[in-house]
Amino acid sequence: MITITVEKFAKMYVENNPGEKFNDIKSNLKAALSRKKAGAVCANCGEPIWAAGSVIVGSDGCFTCITGESDHSGDYEVYE
Ligand SMILES: [Zn+2]
Repeated sequence: MITITVEKFAKMYVENNPGEKFNDIKSNLKAALSRKKAGAVCANCGEPIWAAGSVIVGSDGCFTCITGESDHSGDYEVYE
């Protein structure tokens, strides 16, 4: 995955989704990241959650279960 800061990801996300609010996305990302750090796993398969994707879809899951794909080389994950 391509790692990107919470700030950058939130900025990119609101640019592509004009209805979304930067501060909301940022705080949701931080919350998802905290859950990931605390050991949150995908309810489906037990892999660590994909914080960025979990915020976009609105529920916690891993990359594969959220996207149905196994290649995540071109996708983003957030860090602080
Ligand atoms: Zn999963």
